[in-house]
Amino acid sequence: MTTQFQRIVDISLELDPKNFAMRTPAGFTKDMQFEMEVIKEHDLPGGAGQIVRGMHMRLHAGSHVDAPEHNVRGGTQIHQLPLDLFISDAVIADLRDKMPGRAITEKDLQKRLDNRIRKGDRLLLRTDHNNSYDGGSDRWMKESPYLTIAATMWCIEKGVVIVGYDFYHGNDEPGAPRVFHNSRTLSEHGVITMPYLKNLDQIDSDRFTLVGLPLKLIGAEASPVRAVALL
Ligand SMILES: [Zn+2]
Repeated sequence: MTTQFQRIVDISLELDPKNFAMRTPAGFTKDMQFEMEVIKEHDLPGGAGQIVRGMHMRLHAGSHVDAPEHNVRGGTQIHQLPLDLFISDAVIADLRDKMPGRAITEKDLQKRLDNRIRKGDRLLLRTDHNNSYDGGSDRWMKESPYLTIAATMWCIEKGVVIVGYDFYHGNDEPGAPRVFHNSRTLSEHGVITMPYLKNLDQIDSDRFTLVGLPLKLIGAEASPVRAVALL
């Protein structure tokens, strides 16, 4: 089998310590912001002529995938997920009119996707918000729209296997029964979330191939990915 494509659109967010930050809410035993450090210089006396850097990061920094275990104790981990989940058909929903901070309802998804979505698809939610990602400010969070509970259930009922976001994915509709209700509901139904995407405006095709392979981490709830769209 050959995968045919004309163009690759890079839909990953830059992992740049100067412009990427994550919240550290209650419950963390330590903060771990994205940082790179040089642990060996090229020209140290007696060195082998190589530079070596290491990095500190949460598995949730930048474009990444969340396995069900992120929200479900004992849930599936990254290494237990089949690779074909991360290389296959995807559709995009144009939700730019939901900025700033508006609800994405079941009807919105229905109207924008009903003729196009197929069981087993990956669904990318497009607002273009992360095209001007500002390092994760309060304003960035507040301006991000949210899926209503019914919209989240719609994704599950349609058989979506990955939901991708180009805006902060942790907002819920007012009065949701618990914190991070939508993400948790998706995880409980085995749906993978892929937050911190960008450049979705560059995808001009109704249907394309999403590639976002996780690292081969054993025993992890999430993994960074390099997410691309093949058109
Ligand atoms: Zn995450």
